[in-house]
Amino acid sequence: MLDQSAAKGESIAGLSGSEALRARGHEIARRLSGQNLVAGRLIAAVSGADFPVIDPATGQVIAAAARSGPEDIDAAVTQAFQASSGWSALPPRERGGYLTRCADLLALHQDDLVAILTLETGKAVRPECKPEAGLIVDVLRFFSGLGSEIKGETVPIDDESLTYTLHEPIGVVGAIIPWNVPLMLLGMKLGPALLAGNCVVVKTSEEAPFAALEVCRLMNEILPPGVLNVVSGLGAEAGDPLVRDPRVGKVTFTGSVETGQKIAAAAAPKLIPLTLELGGKSPMIVFPDIELDRAVEGTIFGMRFSRQGQSCTSTSRVYLHDEIFGDFVAAMTAGLEKLKIGDPFDEETDIGAVISKAQLDKIESYNAIAMASPEAKVTRCGKLPDDDRLSGGFWTRPTLITGIDEHSPVAREEVFGPICCLFGWNDLDSVVARANDSDYGLAACIWTNGLKEGLSLAHRLEAGIVQVNQIKTMRPGVSYGGHKLSGIGEEATLESLIQHFTKKKTIAVNLR
Ligand code: NAD
Repeated sequence: MLDQSAAKGESIAGLSGSEALRARGHEIARRLSGQNLVAGRLIAAVSGADFPVIDPATGQVIAAAARSGPEDIDAAVTQAFQASSGWSALPPRERGGYLTRCADLLALHQDDLVAILTLETGKAVRPECKPEAGLIVDVLRFFSGLGSEIKGETVPIDDESLTYTLHEPIGVVGAIIPWNVPLMLLGMKLGPALLAGNCVVVKTSEEAPFAALEVCRLMNEILPPGVLNVVSGLGAEAGDPLVRDPRVGKVTFTGSVETGQKIAAAAAPKLIPLTLELGGKSPMIVFPDIELDRAVEGTIFGMRFSRQGQSCTSTSRVYLHDEIFGDFVAAMTAGLEKLKIGDPFDEETDIGAVISKAQLDKIESYNAIAMASPEAKVTRCGKLPDDDRLSGGFWTRPTLITGIDEHSPVAREEVFGPICCLFGWNDLDSVVARANDSDYGLAACIWTNGLKEGLSLAHRLEAGIVQVNQIKTMRPGVSYGGHKLSGIGEEATLESLIQHFTKKKTIAVNLR
C-alpha cells in the first residue's frame, strides 16, 4: 500500500505527492500486466495474447491486458460454477460479513485504487477518482448489511395449505463493465450479486481494465477461491462467450446501446434475466425563477464536465427559459473558462483527458457537425494543457452549443464527451414534448423555485431518475436504471438485488 504521506502531497523518495501517486499507478499496472484473475490466482490468457492499455493523458502505453478468448472464459466460469454450491449455502449475513471485510480492505487501499484509476482513465484525481474509489467501499458496505432482507413471503390461500416463496441465488453471474466509471459500476454489480449468493465472472473494459482487476484481487484475499473471477479482453472475443456460456444464468451489463442489443440477442436463446444499463441524452429544464449561480453550478456539474462529459447521465440537452437564456449561457461560459484542464494527477486539475483517440475523434466529429451548421454558435471554453509531457494525450475542451437544430445528431445522439446543447423555451407543454422526444430515457433534471411546477414536471418527464434542484451522482439506495433505449432493469437498491440477482421459488405444502 502506498505510504499515506503521498496522498497528503508530501514528498516520497524525492517525488511530490502527485508524482508518487502516478509512479504507484504504473507499479500496479506492471504487476497486473497481462493477467486475468481465476480462482484467486493471477494468470495469463491461455493463448498468451495481450493488448496495450494506454495512458489517456500522455498517449503512452501503461502495460498490457490479457486478451482472453473462449478458453479463458470457460476456465473462469468453471471456477465460478464450482464455487457456487459452497457460496450459495452460506447464510446471507455471513456473505454480508465477507463483503464488509472486503470493503474494509478496499478502504485501506484507497491510494492504490486512486492511483491506478487515475492512470488508466485519465480522469482528474480530485473531482473524480478519489470520490469513485471511496464510492465502491460505500456500495459494498450498503449491500453487506442487507443479508437478512432477502426474504420471501407467505401467501394466504386457505387453511389447508402453507404457501411461501424463497429468493434463491441464480448461480453464475456475468458482469460486463465499461471504462468511464469502472469502480463505481463494478461495486453496483458485485454488491448485490455476491450478497445474493451468486458467483461472478467480471469482464473488464479494454480501455480501463486494471483498477477493477486490483479491486477484485484485493477482494480475493477475503473471498473463497472461485467466487469472484476477472477476465479482460475484447467484446467479441471475451464478452460474447461469457454471455453465451450455458452456465451463466444472468448477465448484468453497463455500456452502449449497441452492445446492449448484441448482448440481448446473444442471451436470447438461453432466456436468462438481463440487466442493461445503457446510454443517455438527458434533458435539463431550467425555469426563470431560479437562483442563477446555483443552477449554473449545477448545470456544469450535471453535464459532468469534470469527467470530460463521459457520463451516461450527462445533462447534455439544457432547456433554458427565454427570460434567462442570455445571462445563463454567459454565466456558464464564465464558469467553464475557470476550470483547469490538465494533468489528471494534479490536485488542482478540474478536467482530465478523454479516454482514447477513438473517443476524442468521435467528440470532434460532433463538434465538426455543429461548426458546419450555419445557425449554430459553438463556444469552446478553457485552455488545453500546455505541458510537453501531455502532448501525446487526448484532450478536448468543454463546448457549449446554442442555436443548433434539435434534430441535428449533436442534439439527439449520445456524444459521451463535453458537448452541451442549450435551447430556449417559453411554453411548458412544448418543452416537455421536446425533452421527451428522445430515444433515451435515463435521467432528467429540473431547476425551479416552484414546488408545484417542479413536482408536476418531474412526473411528466420520461426518465428512470428525475432530480429537482440537485444533480447528484449514483448513490447506493437510490434506484438507478433507464427507460426506453437507456436499458432494462435497475441497480443500487435492495429491491433490485431481490428482483434481478435472485430467482423466486414458490413452495406449496398440503397441511391436511
Ligand atoms: P461498450 O458498449 O463499447 O463496452 C462496454 C463493455 O462491453 C466493454 O467491456 C466491452 O468489451 C463489452 N462488449 C463489447 N461488445 C460486446 C459483446 N458483443 N458482447 C459482450 N460484451 C461486449 O461501452 P463503452 O464505450 O465501454 O462505454 C460507454 C457507454 O457506456 C456509453 O454508451 C454510456 O452511456 C454507457 N454507460 C451507461 C451507464 C448506465 O448506468 N446507464 C453508465 C456508464 C456508461
